Amino acid sequence: MQIEKEKQQINGHHLNGFSIEDIGDDHLFTGLETPMREDAFKLSDSEKKERIAILFEEIMQVMGLDLTDDSLKGTPERVAKMYIDEIFSGLNPKNKPKVALFDNKYQYNQMLIEKNITFYSNCEHHFVPIIGKAHVAYISSGMVIGLSKLNRIVQYYAKRPQVQERLTNQIANELKTILDTEDVAVIIEAKHLCVSSRGVKDDTSETITAYYGGSFNTSEKITELQNYLKS
Ligand SMILES: [Zn+2]
Repeated sequence: MQIEKEKQQINGHHLNGFSIEDIGDDHLFTGLETPMREDAFKLSDSEKKERIAILFEEIMQVMGLDLTDDSLKGTPERVAKMYIDEIFSGLNPKNKPKVALFDNKYQYNQMLIEKNITFYSNCEHHFVPIIGKAHVAYISSGMVIGLSKLNRIVQYYAKRPQVQERLTNQIANELKTILDTEDVAVIIEAKHLCVSSRGVKDDTSETITAYYGGSFNTSEKITELQNYLKS
């Protein structure tokens, strides 16, 4: 499959000779799957929160913060809860949105686009926010999906430590699987706070990534899609 080939190319490509700093600052990544350990879900969510709170408190201690201050006291628990229940909840497959499909009753056979889906993710190299908009499109192979589910699929994959290329491909793969079609497109425009607030400190640049699958991968369809996105 095309995806498998891309994965191999990316794997073979990026690792050799790059330091940890290179990988962080150039936002290289190593695969299309989020790198997870086999035992990722051995601990329950509440055990994870307990553990993260202890470790985050340690980070704050090392930085010299006074954890007896009323304002800081609850921060380790707040961060732990936020990590597991909110901003990294997409790591756990149990949080994957349940999707129901419907017959394409209206026989609508053109592209359907859901545009400007706002998402908040986090860069896996620096753990600071990626803020962006996703545009997703598909052409029905006979089944259709509720519009809000397109949004939920974007949010699920955004709520992981991410790199934008992987986010783009993970959303596309999920839509291809659910909708049983290659005719899927995903475009993401995002701002990476690790680029704007630190490092090279470029506040105006944006990163754009795109996936054009099946019949979307023709200049005609790409132009049509881009015209809709502009309007
Ligand atoms: Zn980063």
